[in-house]
Amino acid sequence: MIRLDAVTVLYRERAALHDVHLHVEAGERVAIVGPNGAGKSTLLRVVAGLLRPASGTAELAGERVERLDRLAVARRLAVVPQLPTLPFATTVEEVVALGRLPHEHPIRGMRPGDRAAVAAAIERVGVGHLLGRDARELSLGERQLVLLAMAVAQAAPVLVLDEPTVHLDLRHQVEVMELLADLNARDGTTILAVLHDLGLAAHFFPRLVLIDRGRIVADGPPADVLSEERIREVFGVDPVFVRLAAPPIPISRPMAASAASSGRDGRQSEGPQGR
Ligand code: ADP
Ligand code: MG
Repeated sequence: MIRLDAVTVLYRERAALHDVHLHVEAGERVAIVGPNGAGKSTLLRVVAGLLRPASGTAELAGERVERLDRLAVARRLAVVPQLPTLPFATTVEEVVALGRLPHEHPIRGMRPGDRAAVAAAIERVGVGHLLGRDARELSLGERQLVLLAMAVAQAAPVLVLDEPTVHLDLRHQVEVMELLADLNARDGTTILAVLHDLGLAAHFFPRLVLIDRGRIVADGPPADVLSEERIREVFGVDPVFVRLAAPPIPISRPMAASAASSGRDGRQSEGPQGR
């Protein structure tokens, strides 16, 4: 679904990515981790066709990204950007509805199916209480959720997210992780997410890609990628500061399922370990 081969990206003379090979199959869920400035956002920009590599190739669903126009990219891939900026006055509902632009009829605009997708995304991400608010007045965390709802409404086969949980409190961080797992498991959405929190990444993603100084230095299951030695070398911290829940805990309560159940009493009484 996503294929980067020998991708090198230069900003002026400096290489931000160096001979990067990354293949993500349809239906995979992959987290990109690495220190600040490692090249994570740059990699997502290449995947989304926002940045053309100096050398190497980027493909999306078998097509060279550079040959796709914006609309063709938007039908294949939805992006949740790192710093959500909303330049004009819009309600939350209007922002989420922007996700339907790639699908809208050129003359008739939003059709019933588009409205249904917007309503479903709002419900699924849990931003119903924000409807009618001016999106510019929202807190960063609220904005992040609204942009996630926009991307969910887009219903593209690939979802790419750049640190989607940095502004969220812990409960919302976990809910977003559960939503991503649910989109992946139930809808078959291929997920590529840059994540800051190694614990969340290791817990919710079966495959981690570790980037350091523009190079992929490890790619595989969390326990292999985040060895104590690598945490020391790449992140420069004592591994004692990175607590990984091991083994990964199965997702017992997808966000959508909990939202659909009738409040707290309707929730599963299963323990947090789900077994
Ligand atoms: P990450 O997302 O891992 O923190 P980035 O991909 O944003 O890292 O950046 C990788 C490197 O490229 C950093 O050293 C950053 O300063 C540099 N960089 C990013 N964007 C630009 C730009 N537009 N112009 C010049 N250098 C950039
Ligand atoms: Mg970044």
